[in-house]
Amino acid sequence: MKLKITILNSLLMSLIVCFILCFMVYVSDFVIVSSGENQLKFIVHENAEEVDWDDGALDLDDIEFYENSISTLIYSVDGYHLAGSKEDHGLFSSIPLQNMKVSSVSVDKVDYLLYDFLVESRKHDDVFIRGILSVTEISQTVNMIFFITLITLPLFILISAVGSYLITKISMKPLTKMIETAEMISQGEDLSLRIQLGSGRDEVHKLGDTFDVMFTKLEELFLAEKQFSSDVSHELRTPTAVILAECECHLHENTTAEEKQEALEVIEKQGKIMQQLISALLNLVRLDNGVEKIDLANEDLSELLTVICEEQLHLLPEKSRLLTEIPENIHCALDYSLMIRVISNLIHNGFKYGKSGGFVKVTLENQKEKVLISVSDDGIGIGEEHIGKIFHRFYQVDTARTEEKEVGMGLGLSMVERIVKLHHGEIFVESELGKGTTFHILLKKEVI
Ligand code: ADP
Repeated sequence: MKLKITILNSLLMSLIVCFILCFMVYVSDFVIVSSGENQLKFIVHENAEEVDWDDGALDLDDIEFYENSISTLIYSVDGYHLAGSKEDHGLFSSIPLQNMKVSSVSVDKVDYLLYDFLVESRKHDDVFIRGILSVTEISQTVNMIFFITLITLPLFILISAVGSYLITKISMKPLTKMIETAEMISQGEDLSLRIQLGSGRDEVHKLGDTFDVMFTKLEELFLAEKQFSSDVSHELRTPTAVILAECECHLHENTTAEEKQEALEVIEKQGKIMQQLISALLNLVRLDNGVEKIDLANEDLSELLTVICEEQLHLLPEKSRLLTEIPENIHCALDYSLMIRVISNLIHNGFKYGKSGGFVKVTLENQKEKVLISVSDDGIGIGEEHIGKIFHRFYQVDTARTEEKEVGMGLGLSMVERIVKLHHGEIFVESELGKGTTFHILLKKEVI
């Protein structure tokens, strides 16, 4: 790339310089001729003013016969040489006198401009003034400059090529760094590598920063994916191992019918755990992949919460209470079936991690542009150090905390968070160990 740009640059430079040189030659020829003509006419007219007659005789005392490289000759009307350099007269005597006409002639390979002017007099004989200017001399100087430039041109081009190569190399440095980093990342050497071009506001720096952000996101995704696969295999390993151990023991050893029955029950329990895990994972993957499409519509959130709470009443643990504070007719943009999953999950957790005889309370608050759903309980609470992690997949604070109650998978809250995000909403937790937990969900009334 650097070489390509350098060659192209040098070619362009050479073309431009050649074009300028040709243009200069053309223009300088034109300028020499036209300024020479003007100068010649000016001197001839100036000398014509000085032609005088004194007692009938021609008085040429005030005439400058050689001025600014222009020689002046005086002739009678019939072409008789009256004054001026004899040598010049000898050279140009064969050229007829033509009043007020500039002619270019070439004598002995030297180019001249001639201009004749007739000085008329009423009392005396008219005379011709001829001005002669050699243009070859001036052209030679210009040509010399042209040739010197032409000879030094390769040097100029070489200097410009080296300069262009160095400039390209410097400006390509950030790009080279980007390529090297991208190559190293793609070869799987180190995903945490970043381009880090440093401060700068130009497009290349912006591109570098954008790539860095992209690399960070890709790394996060990759690590999450890795963590996910390892978590799934880890979660499946225990029930599979239990099932296999039970089968091995009761297939190959003589066990009683009662023991076989117990083994089958253990296998059934582990099978159910696996089934729950697989369906929870499937739900998450569907949400992630967009297979399960979110269908936002303006729904009556008050009605939805009331219906869910009524259904949950049938599933309440003994002595527990489900309290509600749901004002009527609050609408918001939501996906009905996905929101049912969110609220049911939070209520379910409230009881699962609540104390016996405790309560779960569902409240709804109408705000200006948003609605706030809160699900609180007076249960065991969550330690501060765990609050930031409970939405991570497979994260469980402490499985022993639920005592004999059902064992969780650590996937419920990640699904809840994912669904809230799909609603362009926010979810946050307030909790105090031993006192209880409140999950708040903020949803926009209208989602564009
Ligand atoms: P699980 O299947 O373990 O319930 P979740 O994703 O629903 O998985 O919850 C993750 C962890 O967050 C749980 O293991 C639990 O320790 C904690 N948690 C969730 N809800 C509550 C709550 N209402 N009170 C106390 N802890 C909770």
